[in-house]
Amino acid sequence: MVDRTPSGLGMRLRIASFVAVGALAVGACTGAGASPTPEGTTIVVTYSVLGAVVKDLVGDAATVQVLMPNGADPHEWEPSARDIETLTRADLLVENGLGLEGGMGNAFDQAEAAGVKRFVVSDHVTIRRVGSGEGANPEDPDQAPGAEDPHVWMDPLTVRDAMDALAAQLKADLGIDVTARAKDLGARLATLNDEVASILSVIPEARRTLVTGHESLGYLAQRYDLRLIGAIIPSLTTSAEPSAADLAALAEKVRAAKVPAIFTELGTSPKVAQAIGDETGAKVVELATHVLPEDGSYATFMKNIASLIADNLR
Ligand SMILES: [Zn+2]
Repeated sequence: MVDRTPSGLGMRLRIASFVAVGALAVGACTGAGASPTPEGTTIVVTYSVLGAVVKDLVGDAATVQVLMPNGADPHEWEPSARDIETLTRADLLVENGLGLEGGMGNAFDQAEAAGVKRFVVSDHVTIRRVGSGEGANPEDPDQAPGAEDPHVWMDPLTVRDAMDALAAQLKADLGIDVTARAKDLGARLATLNDEVASILSVIPEARRTLVTGHESLGYLAQRYDLRLIGAIIPSLTTSAEPSAADLAALAEKVRAAKVPAIFTELGTSPKVAQAIGDETGAKVVELATHVLPEDGSYATFMKNIASLIADNLR
């Protein structure tokens, strides 16, 4: 429920005026013009990869701010008091959902209490559930087969569904019409899907196996016909820890399936990944599944990941 009581609005206005005064003071000292225009509409997105696509959709129809610094682990990141101010003065908050932003629960509650509208990506797409044999911990109800996978950005067509829904909400809630931009973005995401499929098509059937840092590539595997057979951290989040028994079982799977390469990510211990590589003979390859590339492009992000997977499994 969104709190639309006078106290919620009042709090939001007080914070907004406080921030505006702060921005003026900073501007006077540095001449920097990075702060959003007070009259303009501000959309705050939690996470960098999602932020890239939202910026592409919105263009200059609104100011889009991304809260987490690129390269921060979204599973672990916690907002500062200043970040919470940014959130509570936004017109719309775009979040991934399904617990991806594990450290932001209280901040989301505060934004909602301040009357900020919310768009939760995972409410608008077909959610993938963990399948058996993927390596997640069957004793943890949040990670066992059937658990909902938050890594929706790993499939361009799932992202397209989310952006279509966001375009509709932008129009309904904020009066911003990005229908034409959504159509253009949707076409480019469909092309990207074809390109990723083509990049991954060089991997022979027997080698279409993925072992990753944590269970992050389920949507990619589902879309492009790859198999998840295990993860170094057997979990949908990086905050879990693998046990010695987990790692021994994973090494056995890697050996049995003759997996040529395993992929590490942000939040995986490089030492642990290398130990499995040394034990099994699999090459250890770093994959940027939660970090935007330098050009800030989602298409580059997906193609980089697909190319690294294809080059190392083919
Ligand atoms: Zn993740």
